[in-house]
Amino acid sequence: ATSYVGFDSITQQIEHKLLKRGFQFNVIVAGQTGLGKSTLINTIFASHLIDSKGRLEADDPVRQTTEIQAVSHVIVENGVKLRLNIVDTPGYGDQVNNENCWDPIVKYIKDQHSAYLRKELTAMRDRYIQDTRIHCCLYFINPTGHSLRAIDVIVMKKLSEVVNVVPVIAKADSLTLEEREAFKQKIRAELVYNNIRLYPFDTDENDDEEIQLNESIRSMIPFAVVGSERSVTIDGKSVRGRKNRWGVVNVEDESHCEFMHLRNFLTRTHLQDLIETTAQIHYEAFRSKQLLALKE
Ligand code: GDP
Ligand code: MG
Repeated sequence: ATSYVGFDSITQQIEHKLLKRGFQFNVIVAGQTGLGKSTLINTIFASHLIDSKGRLEADDPVRQTTEIQAVSHVIVENGVKLRLNIVDTPGYGDQVNNENCWDPIVKYIKDQHSAYLRKELTAMRDRYIQDTRIHCCLYFINPTGHSLRAIDVIVMKKLSEVVNVVPVIAKADSLTLEEREAFKQKIRAELVYNNIRLYPFDTDENDDEEIQLNESIRSMIPFAVVGSERSVTIDGKSVRGRKNRWGVVNVEDESHCEFMHLRNFLTRTHLQDLIETTAQIHYEAFRSKQLLALKE
């Protein structure tokens, strides 16, 4: 073989550039007040801080979320820098009239698309645009064990038009394992019945491995999660958990809840695909609509 020119080293060049720049990953949480959104955000960050620094942060006092607010941490693993940005939102759906209660969240997501588009369109555009587009929306479902509320169906539908929506069953410690499984199946059936197309999406580009990965995620969604801002001691080790009169729920124990599955899904298996899907599907739809409107 005399024709080898060495362009395969391009993968290392790309890798080097990407590693230097790092990744930005933006998640938003949505759902009724009191379902543990703020708590889960802290749990996700705390579990990363445990990984990287080997210690837990001090517990936060109880608080109520009153405005849309982003919390951000940089996580470094094996030289790869990830800026994880989680946007907390006030609950909704607690009013007598819940009409348009999803508007602030949809607006927030569109505003990020709009800001990105503006930067893209300026003549002297930056070589690298700071990306605040939301890559994933965790939608919190009340653990009633019965069915979705009408408002959940409406809001998930609205959100799925602008962002990758991933539903989670909040406070899963309030359901038995059988109730949890039955509830999951019920929810999946209701999502299909209501024609709500949720992430992950299959594309022609997907190989067998990706198709299988997406299948396994679909069979798990909605993730049944438990969050905690307190650490409890189990076998001499400090972990995030909830202690009640009957025992302890270890948030990171896969036999207790699916927090670790959700975390792996977000920061390990689907990170790149969530980012790509946002750019190629959601942002692209927004962008072409805006540019068409400009022409008229
Ligand atoms: P938000 O309004 O959705 O942000 O909810 P918060 O995170 O403020 O939590 C509301 C209450 O639910 C707090 O008292 C939390 O301690 C509690 N909570 C949060 N997550 C869980 C959970 O997974 N299980 C249980 N049982 N309680 C939780
Ligand atoms: Mg909150």
